[in-house]
Amino acid sequence: MWQGLIANIAVVALFISLWVHAQQVLELRPSRYRKPIFAAVMGLAAVSTMWLPVELFGGIAFDLRGLPIAMAGLFAGPAVLVTVAMVTAIQFLIGGPLLGAGLAATAATAVVSATAALLIRPPASTIVGLLLGAILGLANGIAFAALTPAQTAVERLVTGGAISFAAGLGTLLCALALILGKRLAGERALMRAAVAQAPDIFFARDRLGRFVAANIGLARAFGRSRPDELIGLTYSDVFPADRAAALSQADAEIMATGGSMADIPEQLPGADGQMRLFSTSKSALRDSDGTVIGIAGVTRDVTERHRLEAEAQRDHALVTFALAEMSDGLAMFDPNGVLVLCNDRYTETFPLTGHIRRPGATVRQIIEAVAETGEEVGIPEDPVERERWIENTVNGIKREAQVEFSISNGRWVQLRTRPTKDGSSLVVVSDITAIKNSELMLQGMTDQLKELATTDGLTGLLNRRSLDQVLAAELARTVRERQPISLLMIDVDRFKAYNDRYGHPAGDKCLKLVANSLREAALRPGDSLARYGGEEFVAVLPNTDEDGAYVLAERLRRSLRDLGLPHEGSEKGLVTVSVGIACYPGTVIERTEAELLRRADQALYDAKAAGRDRVTGFRHTHEVVPRRLLDGTRVAVR
Ligand code: GH3
Ligand code: MG
Ligand code: MG
Repeated sequence: MWQGLIANIAVVALFISLWVHAQQVLELRPSRYRKPIFAAVMGLAAVSTMWLPVELFGGIAFDLRGLPIAMAGLFAGPAVLVTVAMVTAIQFLIGGPLLGAGLAATAATAVVSATAALLIRPPASTIVGLLLGAILGLANGIAFAALTPAQTAVERLVTGGAISFAAGLGTLLCALALILGKRLAGERALMRAAVAQAPDIFFARDRLGRFVAANIGLARAFGRSRPDELIGLTYSDVFPADRAAALSQADAEIMATGGSMADIPEQLPGADGQMRLFSTSKSALRDSDGTVIGIAGVTRDVTERHRLEAEAQRDHALVTFALAEMSDGLAMFDPNGVLVLCNDRYTETFPLTGHIRRPGATVRQIIEAVAETGEEVGIPEDPVERERWIENTVNGIKREAQVEFSISNGRWVQLRTRPTKDGSSLVVVSDITAIKNSELMLQGMTDQLKELATTDGLTGLLNRRSLDQVLAAELARTVRERQPISLLMIDVDRFKAYNDRYGHPAGDKCLKLVANSLREAALRPGDSLARYGGEEFVAVLPNTDEDGAYVLAERLRRSLRDLGLPHEGSEKGLVTVSVGIACYPGTVIERTEAELLRRADQALYDAKAAGRDRVTGFRHTHEVVPRRLLDGTRVAVR
């Protein structure tokens, strides 16, 4: 009996082992074929046990067919029907008195195990499956012990025990083998899928140069639909002769040295026939003894990466070129105020701090160096003020601004700051010396033109137009302030004769000297001196009454006389002037320029008539004219 049981277990174990090995091949096939095939293998095992019946007491025969049926039910689920069909067919073929009992046992085992497989999902199924196997074995033993018409209770116990033990142990072992096989197969499948589906090309070659492993990438590269089509092929089968020879040579070297080669670039036609760039790394494969048994490699399509790298390099070169060639200085500060990028123009613009303006420097370091070296014109001297200036300038980098300043070497700089969204700042520095110089020149020219429009070209005194404006303004002001105003009309004596004698150019020179003499004869700040025309001058003296005007007029006359400019055409022998004075006292509110000028002219005429080189006032020589005073009364004014 024991031999029979062991033979049964051995047969089942044989088929299980067969299956575990077959699985390695079947792994590559879809699982919908795998389960029926497993059920069929188990069917074969069951049928085999049926030819190895174990004779029990009283002619009862027993076999372990339940074991493979249970395996099929547990691991193939509904596909157990294949096993059941096979067993049933053979059962009918054998016939005999136990046909009904055998069929019932087969059906019961299949239904119980398949239901268990359907209800229980991994990982619990592993334990439950094992338990179930043991229970099934036990049930089997009890059933046979009950059925067997054995004589004694001891015989019943021995029979039942032996069957339970054999069936239980067999189930346990088989289930364990299948579970382990399944797990290993799963791991292998994962590894295989990882290699097969990786975007790169994987391959391994043995010492004879045959492909022993390949993935779908390699298959595609050689126009094959499946990787296994490449297994066993050599380089000569897939490459032109010269290339195959070169590659074989390289591989042979790696295998000889046991080393590796990394990132070997190669231009090869891609799947679409276009040339692409590949990068291959290879290394020798060793067995557990360390003997080189082949070579493994991975090849990557780096066309796109290479294109991007080239593009980035070109862009970088362009930016560098643009930065170097641009006429403005450019600097980029990161959100922490650290200089990250600048061109030479930027550093060259600042002769004293250029060496500090390098990537890595902070805006504070730069500004402090500017303050220390006094590079920028107009930095406050006072330490407190200077600290504030540094603080403001450093913070200024965060604001959009445009400033112009001159630096120590006399050049003018325009600095524009533009903060960016990410908190960085872009600084553009332009040398605006030329613009600034022409700006200053234009300003000078404008000032000059303005002066030309208001002054007399020969003497530099106010011209007639300016005199009219000054006189009108001063009359209005002195009326408002109830202040007197006086006017002197000064005429060079016998000047026609001077011209006649010394010539017109000498006359012009003399007029300049006269003008200077008048100017220097101490006018007060509010007074104005104008060339009225020809050799006549007018002095406007606001807030000056007639007495004051006399004093000044006399000083003017004397100072010129004291100059002692010879004038042979004059009876005085010197260049002299006659002065006519006109005055509005503070009390008079009706005042006109024309009237004041007319009176001064009148007084001048009197001075000439009285013998020249003298001062004459209007009041002293003319009749009394009634004037309206501020209080409305009329008084006589001379
Ligand atoms: P007086 O005033 O003493 O009566 O005699 P005068 O010879 O100065 O007479 P008047 O004032 O009428 O003559 C003005 C002369 O001054 C006429 C002209 O020859 C001369 N004159 C006027 N303007 C200029 C000038 O811009 N340059 C020169 N060189 N001479 C001038
Ligand atoms: Mg004159
Ligand atoms: Mg004159």
